[in-house]
Amino acid sequence: MAKHKTYYEDCDVLVVGGGMAGTGATFEARHWGRDMKIVCVEKANIDRSGAVAQGLYAINCYMGMQWGENQPEDHVRYARNDLMGMVREDLGYDMARHVDSTVHMFDEWGLPMMKNEETGRYLREGKWQIMIHGESYKPIVAEAAKKSADKIYNRIMITHLLMDEAQENRVGGAVGFNMRTGDFHVFRAKAVIVAAGGASHIFKPRAVGEGMGRTWYAPWSNGSAYALPIAAGAKMTQMENRIVLCRFKDGYGPVGAYFLHLKTYTQNANGENYEKKWYDQTKELVGEYIDHHPTPTCLRNHAFIQETMAGGGPIHMVTTEAFQDPHLETVGWENFLGMTVGQAVVWASQNIDPKYTNPELTTSEPYVMGSHATCSGAWVSGPEDLSPPEYFWGYNRMLTIDGLFGAGDTVGGSAHKFSSGSFTEGRLAAKAAVKYIEDKKAEGLNVSDKQCEDFKVKIYKPLENYTVAQNEITGGTVSPSYISPIQGLQRLQRIMDEYVGGIATNYMTNANMLKRGLELLAWLEEDLENVGAEDYHQLMRAWELKHRALTSQCVTEHTMFREETRWPGYYYRGDHMKLDDDNWHCLTVSRRDPKTGKFSMEKVPVYHIVDENEKKKAS
Ligand SMILES: Cc1cc2nc3c(=O)[nH]c(=O)nc-3n(C[C@H](O)[C@H](O)[C@H](O)COP(=O)(O)OP(=O)(O)OC[C@H]3O[C@@H](n4cnc5c(N)ncnc54)[C@H](O)[C@@H]3O)c2cc1C
Repeated sequence: MAKHKTYYEDCDVLVVGGGMAGTGATFEARHWGRDMKIVCVEKANIDRSGAVAQGLYAINCYMGMQWGENQPEDHVRYARNDLMGMVREDLGYDMARHVDSTVHMFDEWGLPMMKNEETGRYLREGKWQIMIHGESYKPIVAEAAKKSADKIYNRIMITHLLMDEAQENRVGGAVGFNMRTGDFHVFRAKAVIVAAGGASHIFKPRAVGEGMGRTWYAPWSNGSAYALPIAAGAKMTQMENRIVLCRFKDGYGPVGAYFLHLKTYTQNANGENYEKKWYDQTKELVGEYIDHHPTPTCLRNHAFIQETMAGGGPIHMVTTEAFQDPHLETVGWENFLGMTVGQAVVWASQNIDPKYTNPELTTSEPYVMGSHATCSGAWVSGPEDLSPPEYFWGYNRMLTIDGLFGAGDTVGGSAHKFSSGSFTEGRLAAKAAVKYIEDKKAEGLNVSDKQCEDFKVKIYKPLENYTVAQNEITGGTVSPSYISPIQGLQRLQRIMDEYVGGIATNYMTNANMLKRGLELLAWLEEDLENVGAEDYHQLMRAWELKHRALTSQCVTEHTMFREETRWPGYYYRGDHMKLDDDNWHCLTVSRRDPKTGKFSMEKVPVYHIVDENEKKKAS
């Protein structure tokens, strides 16, 4: 262990993850905490890290309040509708009322925004989306964070949160290792903001073998945002609400600009509007939710999946009409060049010119995240002026552990934040974290050297496993005494895929399958004590896997608990195929006991704050 040097850093605010939410948090922490020490730790390099690494072509969350385009209430209604009623409206409203100011800063910082030539306003792609030339989106927000932080640490993976030993249930910092040097890093902090992104690769992806690694969500998003708080005993919410995306086949190219701006549409192999065909069947399952406008994302997926299962596939996006217009054709291609170059390459390799051939669509494997059309994540306090008592415990975006905050994909219950909303939520969390410190809530922290040393032993154990057992390798990479990270990952993905509602079963699961899934996940957890890493890169893979495995346990427990099919098209509980508003119009909340590793589950009321307040005003 002496081989790995230990570095200590004491700070006020520690931001874990420098993606959209993390850069927002770092920037805002400096605004409120002028004299505070602010540190951001990132697994990659913040200039090109996270889901926005490659750039984006649209900012998906902008109200346009200055022009009276939308109000925060409208966004709450929209997110509530899309998530079949299940959102934290206090969090959604809070994000929406601040998101425009974030976008205006991006504009000031030089992000090229497209303008509507007639009105001079930002060019709308859809009701909520505005279009950008966003290849450099991430370096631009990273610059704001770099100018704000005392120090940015790149290439350090945070593996565990430190807990205060003076006061129960209070965070004390975090530990991790540098993936290039192998050094051990201890960050003792008064407040920690976890902004470590969502989780891909917990369900088996469609692309395996030669295409392995190609997923819709960033392949490096490994669920640390969930595993770090879960391991420390924080409460989580809506972890069953995994997301499945309908995207262009094989490249996962985005469809938003195609649907909204190019006005393309989908059809089955016979050229029919298949969505209509499944209306009655869907109504049987979810009742009046199918009549809502716009149709919730999961229900559109449902029609796609049913049509494919009934033999109506492949499903195509009709591009051949829109692409006759040279302007729309350019937009169609540029849309990929700004964010998913790979889709253009796939089409080129398959002789698909969308001007003459309608490209195929597919539904993806499931992902876990809290900022897109889904809301898995940590159970956090809302803002004091909006949140009902069950949703408020002192500091905005604070988890159920004192001093531990979250933002972006980390935070559950608040869907449709996207890049701008995640940055905004980082700002909200940072403002509250600074206040928490100013209120002297972090006084007398005690993080012992022993706690740090114990984590150090744990973190490097995979290197130890490999060193000791490599002499037993029987052939290739097969050892009787350890498993490699890739072997463990593939085992995890199969368990999740086959038992928890992945593509193998057309997103179908039930209590018996979930029970078996949990058994297999428990054995995997045992075996992961014996994961072996031959170098620091593999050590990162080992810890990514452990974080994915813990996230998966939580997802499976939640899926087991909610005895209904709330989001057909995201997953199905075959033993409870219908949406059940009488018993399940509620949020699910879990907590894993760090001592026993056992999860406990509870139902928490979902409050429809926006329209309730309006009803009260009217009466
Ligand atoms: C394919 C795709 C397309 C999208 N398209 C759009 C769009 O068109 N418009 C839009 O507005 N939004 C879009 N989004 C949504 C947007 O990208 C996310 O909402 C946003 O990036 C979430 O912010 P975040 O900070 O939570 O996560 P991220 O931005 O992913 O940041 C997480 C950061 O944490 C780091 N990290 C992870 N684990 C650790 C660890 N253990 N230790 C240290 N660091 C760690 C990661 O490296 C990363 O930098 C899209 C997302 C995806 C995946």
